[in-house]
Amino acid sequence: MSDTRPLPMIPYGTFSRNVHDQAATHHRVIKAQLELTYRCNLHCRHCYTDPYNDRAYFPRELTLTEIQRLLGEMRDVGIIWLNLTGGDIFMRPDFFDIYEAAVGHGFLLQLYTNGTLFTQAIIERLQTRPPFSIDISCHSAEESRFDWFTQVPGSYRAFLRGIELLQAGGLPFSLKTKLMNWNAGEVDQLRRFTEENGQPFGYTTSLSPRLNGDCSSLDYRIPPDAIRRLHSNQDVAQETDGCPTHDPLSPPAHERLFRCGCGTDTIHINAWGELSTCTFQYETRQSLRTHTVCEAIEHTFTTIHGLTYRTDSACRTCTLHTFCDKQPTQARLETGHPESPIPYDCDVAVARAESTHQQPLIHPLHHRSRPMTARPGASS
Ligand code: SF4
Ligand code: SF4
Repeated sequence: MSDTRPLPMIPYGTFSRNVHDQAATHHRVIKAQLELTYRCNLHCRHCYTDPYNDRAYFPRELTLTEIQRLLGEMRDVGIIWLNLTGGDIFMRPDFFDIYEAAVGHGFLLQLYTNGTLFTQAIIERLQTRPPFSIDISCHSAEESRFDWFTQVPGSYRAFLRGIELLQAGGLPFSLKTKLMNWNAGEVDQLRRFTEENGQPFGYTTSLSPRLNGDCSSLDYRIPPDAIRRLHSNQDVAQETDGCPTHDPLSPPAHERLFRCGCGTDTIHINAWGELSTCTFQYETRQSLRTHTVCEAIEHTFTTIHGLTYRTDSACRTCTLHTFCDKQPTQARLETGHPESPIPYDCDVAVARAESTHQQPLIHPLHHRSRPMTARPGASS
């Protein structure tokens, strides 16, 4: 006879904390980001996937059958939170086949979208089995500037229409903003716009090179001094970049190349079916066309945990590391070596640390004039 007693109800925060604690204790993967496509109806100027938003690359993307297999394998390894992203997810004609398969596996689904492709039909379909959350990018509260950035006239109006549809449909959504050099001056308007739409305002500032290695997306980086001003004005905004913990100043506890959360409880699968530990981790990936999710996790996590600093890079002993966004893949693309400091990230780390500790600090690159070298005994 089946047990029909109801499960005890606990607040979501308690559930989430318990699951994360158990995952940390038992080294289990519980979160995944799955890029469904690089196709998108917009061409945002900072976009890292845009080089592959080209029909020449579309045949490389995961098929529905492949995605259905991966969803089952992700469920079997214990994934609970699944983020579907792109490109734009609604560019896939089979999006709802994927969505319904994912709902059927019981994932808590987070959708990332630019918000411009919502229709009444999409809203009604989502209402039948709503996602856990929908995140929409908000670049500007001014039509001409929004359309300039997306390079698509009419995109701001489509974005507003999407928000109206979501609100009318009662679906859970939040607006997210990336502050850059061209929109940082709009922070008060962006905050007002977000709050008028019933959302708390937060921002991120990190940008990444494009997936093909082109670093022109970094031209839109917010100046470090602007980050310092934003930090000093607590009323204006809150920075929500996830990895740095902004702890007290102290040297790293170990020599691992990846000091962030890479290789703990999260996986990323790109639109070509390659698994890694994070969206911007391209030092090691494994194809899910030739390996299972379980095999690929084992391989990539072991590799990531084994990568250590082999040079005397300033990053190796840097006391500002918890304030720093440096990612080894970005360092490789920008400077030629994954261990090298990224001067922009150093400037930002100094600005954040000085703002937090209210004291002047020595810039990590100012007591170093010679080039980075291999440490004695380190083989490449
Ligand atoms: S909406 Fe997203 S995927 Fe599309 S171009 Fe903009 S940043 Fe890239
Ligand atoms: S990039 Fe700069 S601030 Fe960041 S860890 Fe390296 S030396 Fe420190």
